Amino acid sequence: MKGDYKIIDHAYDVVVVGAGGAGLRATFGMAEKGLKTACVTKVFPTRSHTVAAQGGISAALGNMGEDDWRWHMYDTVKGSDWLGDQDAIEYMCREAAPAIIELEHYGVPFSRTDDGRIYQRPFGGMTTHFGEGRAQRTCAAADRTGHAILHTLYQQALRHQAEFFVEYFATDLIMDGETCRGVMALNLLEGTIHRFNAHLVVLATGGYGRSYFSCTSAHTCTGDGNGMVLRAGLPLQDMEFVQFHPTGIYGAGCLITEGVRGEGGYLTNAKGERFMERYAPNAKDLASRDVVSRSMTIEINEGRGVGPKQDHIHLHLEHLGPEVIHERLPGIAETAKIFAGVDVSREPIPVLPTVHYNMGGIPTNHHGEVLTLKDGDPDRVVPGLMAIGEAACVSVHGANRLGSNSLLDLVVFGRAAAHRAAEIVSGIGADVRPLPDGAADPALERLDRLRNANGNRPTASIRKDMQHTMQRYAAVFRTGETLKEGCERMDEIMDSFAEVHVSDRSLVWNLDLMETLELENLLGCAVATIRSALNREESRGAHAREDHPERDDEHWMKHTLSWVDHQGRVKLDYRPVHMYTLSDDVDVVPPKARVY
Ligand SMILES: Cc1cc2nc3c(=O)[nH]c(=O)nc-3n(C[C@H](O)[C@H](O)[C@H](O)COP(=O)(O)OP(=O)(O)OC[C@H]3O[C@@H](n4cnc5c(N)ncnc54)[C@H](O)[C@@H]3O)c2cc1C
Repeated sequence: MKGDYKIIDHAYDVVVVGAGGAGLRATFGMAEKGLKTACVTKVFPTRSHTVAAQGGISAALGNMGEDDWRWHMYDTVKGSDWLGDQDAIEYMCREAAPAIIELEHYGVPFSRTDDGRIYQRPFGGMTTHFGEGRAQRTCAAADRTGHAILHTLYQQALRHQAEFFVEYFATDLIMDGETCRGVMALNLLEGTIHRFNAHLVVLATGGYGRSYFSCTSAHTCTGDGNGMVLRAGLPLQDMEFVQFHPTGIYGAGCLITEGVRGEGGYLTNAKGERFMERYAPNAKDLASRDVVSRSMTIEINEGRGVGPKQDHIHLHLEHLGPEVIHERLPGIAETAKIFAGVDVSREPIPVLPTVHYNMGGIPTNHHGEVLTLKDGDPDRVVPGLMAIGEAACVSVHGANRLGSNSLLDLVVFGRAAAHRAAEIVSGIGADVRPLPDGAADPALERLDRLRNANGNRPTASIRKDMQHTMQRYAAVFRTGETLKEGCERMDEIMDSFAEVHVSDRSLVWNLDLMETLELENLLGCAVATIRSALNREESRGAHAREDHPERDDEHWMKHTLSWVDHQGRVKLDYRPVHMYTLSDDVDVVPPKARVY
């Protein structure tokens, strides 16, 4: 191998890549079960994007009114626009209450009701009695729920002696035929290369919001796990479904939680009209995110936006009073002050729909095992590989995620993955086999190639092209024509990556190299997204095609699978949606119908 790379070998039962909510829950669950577990993370665990989650985590505890996990399941299936797998949704909603109680016992400092129970607020799309009433289902620690959960999970991981590799950047999976045998990582501080050999690799690398120009996610959300899966020749699923959050701060993109509307905040247009009353007479400002984002976009497109350019919307919480703001939404008041210069107790916040969450990702079953389509089998498990959290597509969110269901997804499936890993590793019952010769060569060659890349396009300029193209052509509303144009643009941008230029050749804290590795991952996610969006000729959940405005269950109630080759060419295929449940306790929720 060319280059003077120092390679350090490790052997573990399990290597978890990522230390956000999903990665930490899996890491300590596995360590707790006696598995030798390593957690590799490019940022310090408590800096993962989960720390930014504000509004809360859903569970039908019924602390503040009646509730039932079956109603939660119904809402989630409906919210997913019937693209979610109903077995996985049943599992998540049923496990929600025990998962929250467990978090409480681990030490998460939830806000409290007067009688000392966990406080719960209403969130969009969360109802009682199968759509009849409004549920208060979202458990909150003020407006810093993710912060509270992430810190608690990290403490638990330390308590169970999981081994952390902090500021290690995972570059590629080590594949042996169809089996995953480990993962390669670069120690950012020392510049050494680490080869992790393991029975199981768990990808918990989060979303890829940064393929867009305006997003609420951290700069670290670059779809690295998704990129690794694509390079291993495996598919991603449902990438066309990108959630726009209705209330990103205009200009800055930072999130203002849906919890604000849960507490009584509302939106107005230039005429001061509460326009959501027209679009969603019942749910109004708490309609699901796709509905609110589209309504806001229509208001702006029809000339009723606020501001000098009439290009955004106002979010009001002045009427809530300083006490509610101070107690329930203190972080929001601070964010609005810093990023919009607004005092929320006196004036509205300028907001705009902003990319927030990726429903698509690495296909898995409800145990967290990665799936691929092989020999006509749509549920073929990839041995040695699991995925959880926003990087994964279980699929519990289908075409649109309900607010507060992601934090739940992290802890429920992080835990499920730990259970499954224990079964798999005890089934193998042997030490990790040595890696075949040359198993890590493709990863090393890629690293070496990019480190010495000597073209004429700086990484940042290619990234900017990609972000603006995605923002413009794969937006809240899409048409075949604009998507086609966007695909052509993305192909050119993909080709321009061959001309990338990395100016820093060192291996120690080489951010230029790291951003280039991240860019390659983002590009894979971006082309998969826009090609899948062009292909899906219907409107469902977050995917709104103006040229195909109706949902078309006959042709499109299926998951899109996308493979991206090393030149950026995309191949598409499909998996059926799981229209069955795990138990007899619930019926399948058929499209549009109300059941039970
Ligand atoms: C501002 C904001 C607010 C939100 N609020 C809510 C909310 O109130 N309720 C809710 O349910 N959801 C909310 N969400 C969504 C939810 O927070 C995220 O979907 C979720 O936190 C993702 O968690 P994760 O564990 O999958 O990934 P992350 O928390 O993003 O963590 C990813 C981890 O992977 C590691 N990693 C990535 N790439 C590599 C690599 N190459 N090598 C090594 N390590 C790597 C990172 O270091 C990090 O530790 C919010 C999202 C945002 C952006």
